[in-house]
Amino acid sequence: MSVDINKNIFAVRQRIAEAALRAGRNVSEIKLMAVTKTHELDFIKDAFSLVDLIGENRVQEALNKFKDYKLNLDLHLIGHLQANKARKAVEIFNSIDSIDSIEIAERVNKIACELNKVMNILIEVNTSGEVNKTGAEPDKFFELLDKVIELKNLKLNGLMTVGPISQDEKIIRKAFEMLRNFAERASERTGLELKDLDLSMGMSNDFELAILEGANIVRIGSLIFGARDYSK
Ligand SMILES: *Cc1c(COP(=O)(O)O)cnc(C)c1O
Repeated sequence: MSVDINKNIFAVRQRIAEAALRAGRNVSEIKLMAVTKTHELDFIKDAFSLVDLIGENRVQEALNKFKDYKLNLDLHLIGHLQANKARKAVEIFNSIDSIDSIEIAERVNKIACELNKVMNILIEVNTSGEVNKTGAEPDKFFELLDKVIELKNLKLNGLMTVGPISQDEKIIRKAFEMLRNFAERASERTGLELKDLDLSMGMSNDFELAILEGANIVRIGSLIFGARDYSK
């Protein structure tokens, strides 16, 4: 199997530009995150200079892959974080985009404090209502937000969600719209400027809908690197 990463990224950028045009938005405000889970460093390297951010789902995998790699990568954790992995996560990621509970927020804050740093985070919300999805439940969002704002070693840069598994565009857009609404209300509640709150939403099969609903980070794996092999 041969995968042309350059060509794939170019095609994704093209589709992002078209979606931005449809949405009446400026394409320069939309960042492309390459999601590199399950792929080896040698294979994904070509993407680094062509995308804006790198997303990994697991702390240990990211550590194995990137610990000796010193090129300036803006590496984000996008998978669920377990408390016992929090220290390593704070050490290697530039941002933890999957903060989904008060407990994990407090833990990350404490570790960041010990390491004398301010950790960039996003709050992840389960906008789909699917029980097996990660992210804070919508009715817990404001409580979590208020806590995150109090924690001095966390810097809230926005919100993240994973769209519902559905063929129905309306259902998918509704979830993304919910995240945008949460960002608007979070801005009013905290005084953070809306333009300073990223909306990380949209993956290979729904990123155009996410852009129509205001996404400014789209997380793309398979359209760039091909299908993943989880058996490895
Ligand atoms: C795997 C993953 C992606 C990328 O998925 P693709 O469908 O391959 O683009 C994006 N976001 C999260 C949270 C993921 O786990």
